[in-house]
Amino acid sequence: MLARLKSNFYLAMISLVGLMISVCVTPYGIYRLLTGNIVVGIADLVMVSISICCVIYAWRTDNTKGPGLIMAMAFCVGAILVCINLGVDGVFWVYPFIVFIFFLVSPFKALLMLLLSLSVLVGVALFNPGQIFASTFQLVSFTVTCLITSLFAYVFAYRTQTQREALKVLATTDSLTGAANRRTLDEALMSAIVQHRKNATEYGLMLLDLDYFKNINDNYGHKTGDNVLTELVPVLKKMVRQRDTVFRFGGEEFVVLLADIKQADLHKLADKIRLGVNEQLGLPDGKKLTTSIGIAVLQNDESWESWLHRADLALYQAKSQGRNQVVAAQIDSDV
Ligand code: GH3
Ligand code: MG
Ligand code: MG
Repeated sequence: MLARLKSNFYLAMISLVGLMISVCVTPYGIYRLLTGNIVVGIADLVMVSISICCVIYAWRTDNTKGPGLIMAMAFCVGAILVCINLGVDGVFWVYPFIVFIFFLVSPFKALLMLLLSLSVLVGVALFNPGQIFASTFQLVSFTVTCLITSLFAYVFAYRTQTQREALKVLATTDSLTGAANRRTLDEALMSAIVQHRKNATEYGLMLLDLDYFKNINDNYGHKTGDNVLTELVPVLKKMVRQRDTVFRFGGEEFVVLLADIKQADLHKLADKIRLGVNEQLGLPDGKKLTTSIGIAVLQNDESWESWLHRADLALYQAKSQGRNQVVAAQIDSDV
């Protein structure tokens, strides 16, 4: 549970907001009902109930977008109702709601929802003077402070979102080639195993290694070696389907993970890649590169480590048989 909260920021935020609302608003809702303010009491308790349902749904499905939006909308409607019914006593609740909404939906959506809600409140206040605010001065102060709070919350949320996205790219991408990195590969392989067991999805793996790459570094320099690795990734991505992923396994070794593919098709595609790399990648003097590829289709009840190991053994075999070839892994290997 703690691991899920740590790894899924939006789930953690929805849970925190849900908890805060349940703990802080429930007593008020009960108090309003007991003191005869039925509309505010019901609005409070409906907000609490919606929040609890959304949190449960998010935990069950890992979908945080829908529940976040519903909670944000419920808070906007709830805040408007509370302000209209309680007047100035209710407007204090608007400020925490402004902050909460930025934790539930994207910054732009949050700002839009807040501006819309504020317009509704100001409209109601203007058409019914004295109902919410005691004076025009109060109305203006409320509007200005809400706008300032919303704007600064927006800037903060926007900055946090862009930094989080940049961090994610840094944590999951190989900086030289732009391919997915080794850490992501381990997670993708584990997830493939889960999908295979759950839905019997067929998965194939290619382990690709450039032949005599050390000679390229030695003869043309490390920079040329780097350029070859950088140019290789778009060539690979162009030849696989959009949903297939190219990972840098390390050095000049790359892994391609493919879903819904059978052994024969995997073999054909690997051979196409081997030829494609030879045709499309070249050295400064026009010399061509060759690759060796080990392929393995995921077997039933196989661990991801064993799957990868079989592909590695196949690659090793391709190297020892003379390189520039594709070798399929042994299926009945009990490694
Ligand atoms: P083989 O045909 O058996 O694969 O031979 P090889 O020379 O390709 O294999 P080996 O594993 O001996 O050498 C890999 C070389 O890749 C060694 C290392 O210097 C180089 N290398 C690893 N990472 C990088 C990198 O990021 N950039 C560059 N330019 N070279 C790298
Ligand atoms: Mg090599
Ligand atoms: Mg190697």
